[in-house]
Amino acid sequence: MAVSRRRFVGGFAAAMGYVGLAPETDLFALGQSTASNAAGSSYLSDKIKKAMEEYDGYAKLSNNENPYGPPESVMKAMTDAFKYANRYGSPDGGIVDAIAAHHGVKTENVLIGEGSSELLDISDAAFTRGGRKVVGADPTYATIFQYAAGTNSQGILIPLRADFTQDIPAMIRAVKTHYRDVGLVYLCNPNNPTGVIVRKEEVKQLLDAVPDDVPVLIDEAYHHFVEDPNYETSTKYVLEDRSVIILRTFSKIIGLAGMRLGYAVAPKRLLDQMKVYSINYGVNQIVRYGGVAGLADTAAQDKVRKINTELRTKTTKELEALGYPVIPSQTNFFMVQIDRDVVQTGADFKKRGVLVGRPFPPMTKHLRVSVGSAAEMDRFMKAFKEIFPVRTAPGKSGIGR
Ligand code: PLP
Repeated sequence: MAVSRRRFVGGFAAAMGYVGLAPETDLFALGQSTASNAAGSSYLSDKIKKAMEEYDGYAKLSNNENPYGPPESVMKAMTDAFKYANRYGSPDGGIVDAIAAHHGVKTENVLIGEGSSELLDISDAAFTRGGRKVVGADPTYATIFQYAAGTNSQGILIPLRADFTQDIPAMIRAVKTHYRDVGLVYLCNPNNPTGVIVRKEEVKQLLDAVPDDVPVLIDEAYHHFVEDPNYETSTKYVLEDRSVIILRTFSKIIGLAGMRLGYAVAPKRLLDQMKVYSINYGVNQIVRYGGVAGLADTAAQDKVRKINTELRTKTTKELEALGYPVIPSQTNFFMVQIDRDVVQTGADFKKRGVLVGRPFPPMTKHLRVSVGSAAEMDRFMKAFKEIFPVRTAPGKSGIGR
C-alpha cells in the first residue's frame, strides 16, 4: 500500500504540476493504484496476480477511459453506500431524480442502465425489431451495429466527409430513401473514433428532416470534454418531445467505467418501448450513489476536462512537429495519421508497454490514441519516436480507403 501511495503521489504531482493545480487533492487516487494492492491478496491465484501486474504496468491509451479514476466525492459516496451491498430494496441515492433535475426533465424522461452500452443494446432491441436498419456514420462507435447484427438487423453506413465530419445531408437522404426499412438513426456526437463534433445547426437539420416515427439516438458519451461553441447537447429536443434519445455515461469524465452506469434522456413514449428490454435492478446500488455525487462534482469534471485538453494539445503539437497530422479532437482521444498498419503498430506499442486503439476501418491510415495522464503521454511519445521516423512530408490527408 505504501508503495502504491508513493507511486500515486509521484504520478499525480507530475500531472498537477503540468496544469498548475494543488497536488494535495485526491482526485487521481484510484487511477494511480498499482498491482501492489493485489500482492497481499491470498485469495488470488498467481496467474491472476501476474495478469493484474501486467495490466497495471501498461500506459492504457486504448479505451478512452479516465486515467485518474473517480473523484474523492464519488469514492466517498460509494464507500458510504456499501452498507447496502447485501440489500435488494435499499434507498438508491435518488439517481433518477438527480439526473432529471440535472437536465431539467421529468423522471419519466430518464432511464438508467449498466453503462450506456446497455441502453444501446435495448435501443436496438426496441427499434430495430424485424430487421429494421440503423443509419449511422462510418466509422463511428460500432456497438449499435453489432447489437443490430445480433438481431438480424443491419447498418446503413454513411462515409465521413473528407474533413472527417459526419455527412448529415447523406444521412437524411439514406433515411428518406430507405424510410420503410429504417428503425433508428445513430449519431455519435462528438464522434468516436475521430473526436469530431456535429455542429448544432446540423443536428437540428437532421432532426427536422427525419420523420417522427424514426427515433434519432444521439450518443453524447464525450459531451463533457467538448469546448467548441459550435457544439451543444441535444437534451433540449427531449423537452420539445422530438423523437430523440440522448445517451450519457459516467464512464468517461466521472471515471466509473468499471462500475457501469449510464442513462438515456428521451420522451416517455420512447422510453416505454425501451424499458421492456431493460434489466430490472441491473444497476448496482453502490454506483447509483457515486453517480449522484459525480453529477454534483462539477469542480472535479472541470479539472479532468482542463488536464485532458492541455495534454491532448501538447501531444498533438509534438506529433505534428514530427510530421504526423492529428485530426482536431474535442474529446479524450485523438486520431493521428500514421500511414501504417494499425494492428502491427498496436503490437509495436504494446512491446513498449503502451496500449493504443484498435483499427477503425475504413480509416486504415489513422491510429486512435486515448489521452492518458501526463506520465502515460510521455511514455506514448517516447514509444512513438522509437517506432516512427521523423517525416518531412506527411502522407496525403484522407479517410484511407
Ligand atoms: N458510446 C460511446 C461513443 C463510447 O465510446 C462508449 C465507450 O467507449 C460507450 C458508448 C459505452 O460506454 P459505457 O457502456 O461504459 O457507458
